[in-house]
Amino acid sequence: MENIFTDEYFMKKALQEAEMAFDKGEIPVGAIIVVNNTIIARSHNLTEMLHDVTAHAEMQSITAAANFLGGKYLKDCTLYVTLEPCQMCAGALYWSQITKIVFGARDEQRGFMVMGTKLHPKTAVVSGVMANEAADLMKRFFISRRK
Ligand SMILES: [Zn+2]
Repeated sequence: MENIFTDEYFMKKALQEAEMAFDKGEIPVGAIIVVNNTIIARSHNLTEMLHDVTAHAEMQSITAAANFLGGKYLKDCTLYVTLEPCQMCAGALYWSQITKIVFGARDEQRGFMVMGTKLHPKTAVVSGVMANEAADLMKRFFISRRK
């Protein structure tokens, strides 16, 4: 049987979260955390609603996953996030020692790569999964804000 639990499969779930953010007028970024092919955290950006610059999708998912696991380290966990994490989220992910990060679109301005933020040496990174879908959602959002 073919394995349905591909990176694309889980990134679609993260994109659904990003759509929810979009519908609330939040910058559309969604994240989920998966362990053993089970989603243990799902979240989307809520910085406007919570008036909190730290309410990025990744930050909320890190907290939710640690609560679920009953431990602070996200061992054997994979984060799927529609946009490249910023330096704050990369820093939090560093402390979580998460096993793998899969992200969609690059953030050329404020992503952790251009900022030179380091992830934990144990963390594997995959980029560009459904990047066009994530980038299109961002574009649609900023066009709708200008109207
Ligand atoms: Zn962030």
